[in-house]
Amino acid sequence: MPNSQPQQIVACVVYTDRMIEASAAQVIHNSKKIDHIELGWSGDDSTRLYRKTFPTPPKQDELVEALREAMSEVCKKRPASLVLASPSPLKSTAPSERGFDSSGYGVTEASGLFPAWSGLDLYALACDACASIIDPMDIHVQLDVALASLGEYHWRLNHKELTSETTRQKQKLYAARVGRSVDQVIFDEHSVSYVKLSSDINAALTQQGVLFEGKGNPYLSMLHPHRCNIIDHGFNDDFEGDCSLHNDCFGGMLTQRALKRRVEIYRSDGLSMNEIALRKALVIVEYAVQLCEILVAAHRPSLIVLDGRVVNDRDSEMGPDGLLISAINDQLYKRLAVIDADGNVSLKPSYIQHNFDEGFRFVQAASCPNPLTYGALAHAANIIAAAGKIVNLRKRSGKQSME
Ligand SMILES: [Zn+2]
Repeated sequence: MPNSQPQQIVACVVYTDRMIEASAAQVIHNSKKIDHIELGWSGDDSTRLYRKTFPTPPKQDELVEALREAMSEVCKKRPASLVLASPSPLKSTAPSERGFDSSGYGVTEASGLFPAWSGLDLYALACDACASIIDPMDIHVQLDVALASLGEYHWRLNHKELTSETTRQKQKLYAARVGRSVDQVIFDEHSVSYVKLSSDINAALTQQGVLFEGKGNPYLSMLHPHRCNIIDHGFNDDFEGDCSLHNDCFGGMLTQRALKRRVEIYRSDGLSMNEIALRKALVIVEYAVQLCEILVAAHRPSLIVLDGRVVNDRDSEMGPDGLLISAINDQLYKRLAVIDADGNVSLKPSYIQHNFDEGFRFVQAASCPNPLTYGALAHAANIIAAAGKIVNLRKRSGKQSME
């Protein structure tokens, strides 16, 4: 009987790939524990309230107008909470800093990749557009990858039935061996590192259902990878890089634009289609593995989710969970392995051993059809639950009511 449980409407406005979308969902809280929030969201279009696409990157005034339109659609549902997702780095995402002029909460940094988003005060914009409908304390601005990592975590938690039978069996065996429940094994220490490889490169971590927050911009794309030097294939990477600031940072090597430019150069060098495809795949695998190594060293995630169009070409055999992801897993396994003096191969640290041994693929494609929207709605739901602002429809009185 879903109607007897506490319910709430939450909403989000997200921007992806020249497109703005607004969605709302009814949240059914089973308890205040954030792991047990269930969104009344089926993955279809039923929760979408607004969508606008831009054929070319929008100018800032066009973007602001579309954001206002999206938020006024959202306000018609009278949601309890709104989350705004930004593709551009943010000066601050710490909720405690809201309302302080100098904090920069929800204000975007200058962005070379998303010029229209540079220096926008998204929080002020949302407060203004939703005035008298949503309490400013219930308006949140967050980085898109951060919300997507939360989305993947909650999607996997709520869709355990999608796990393959083989993996489930292995999880059961392992849980029995260590004397814990399957849920504990999968989620108690579970952390999802979500990496977006698309027009920009960024990553975020969700630990035990909570975003790992710090400075809004991890600057992951600005780190420099080691040059790809794949002797076996007789190929040294001499591509100069595509970043106007650092040339061959990850952002200059692994974004869609950088890969496109690389392919153009190979074409003009007269390489065959097969040779170009092979080199492109080798380059993606090599630099994606280096990114994963950095994440393992920094965050120790139990799972790395690679998403974005660089690894997510659904029309190709390289697509989700296809050859690319397999190759990345294989290479990462080799890099993380150590060979002792007797020639025995082992993995370090032990949690990686666990991941490979028990049938989990350490690096996976996204399983949620729309991690960003799902994560944004989950974030809104988490905040309401954490604040105890749950409207109990059965027992509408006193503290539990928002009225
Ligand atoms: Zn750069």
